[in-house]
Amino acid sequence: MSDFHMVVCVKAVPGSTEVKMDPKTNTIVRDGKQAVINPFDTSALECALALKDDFIGFGMDVRVTVVSMGIPATESLLRDCIARGADDALLLTDRAFAGADTLATTYALKCGIEALDEDFDLLICGKMAVDGDTAQIGPELAGAFEIPCVTDVSCVQSAGFTTCGSLALVHGCDAGEETVYLEMPCAMTTAKEIGQLRMPSIAGIRAAEEADVRVVNAADVNADPARCGLAGSPTQVVRSFVPDRDQTCETVDGTASEQAAKLAKIIEGWHR
Ligand code: FAD
Repeated sequence: MSDFHMVVCVKAVPGSTEVKMDPKTNTIVRDGKQAVINPFDTSALECALALKDDFIGFGMDVRVTVVSMGIPATESLLRDCIARGADDALLLTDRAFAGADTLATTYALKCGIEALDEDFDLLICGKMAVDGDTAQIGPELAGAFEIPCVTDVSCVQSAGFTTCGSLALVHGCDAGEETVYLEMPCAMTTAKEIGQLRMPSIAGIRAAEEADVRVVNAADVNADPARCGLAGSPTQVVRSFVPDRDQTCETVDGTASEQAAKLAKIIEGWHR
């Protein structure tokens, strides 16, 4: 058992804008080609690794586990996370998870995290995924585990942790920025500026090659298939399309009131 266990949720997202949608289910066709780690999750992982450095400095034994729900090819991305400093990885992969909305994704991730051999102290997600970009999973996971969550965190101060047992999280909010002190266990979602993911080390790359990435399916983590994937998703994308980007330009001239009248007519025309 470690003194401090961090779980980082990382999502594989299409690495190019050439995204193919399945015409039947209106979900993204994920073939793993060109898949990359969601950019916000690279910052989430760097945040965990920087905290690990701090805590090791405090003489603590720290563990960073990366967890993902995705197709089998996602395993190589998890190995890349280990090459950069994560200690172990869990991949949830099963046809039953396909087409999941955020509720079904949260359920599957929760089952996977509960199947780990150690409870977590800090759960870290990226602020959002660049494909679905609902920004819902982090707060939904915190709700599922009934723990507090701070979103859009740009800085974590660990200095006071050994004395008061809480972390100071600086995050963006309507008032601009505020610092929230949270005790463990808790969850957070990271802003991109929290940190740039470090490069893999030679030792890290070797560790990643030998690492035992746990690959589990729904049954392995006691996930009820009726609550997974499309079957477990109250939200279904009914239509997805690339909007036409019409760039025609129209000059509106005349006196101010003439211009206002013409503009009103043009806007009215858009709504017919
Ligand atoms: P976000 O909530 O934006 O992700 C936040 C963080 O959660 C990530 O940074 C990562 O840390 C973690 N995370 C997310 N997915 C995973 C994963 N698979 N494995 C590990 N960590 C993960 N679903 C809805 O419920 N409502 C919608 O309106 C909706 N609209 C969609 C629109 C489009 C165009 C697409 C492609 C999908 C949509 N979905 C919607 C489905 C949604 O994308 C999936 O449920 C997805 O698995 C999670 O949501 P997200 O991509 O928005 O993630």
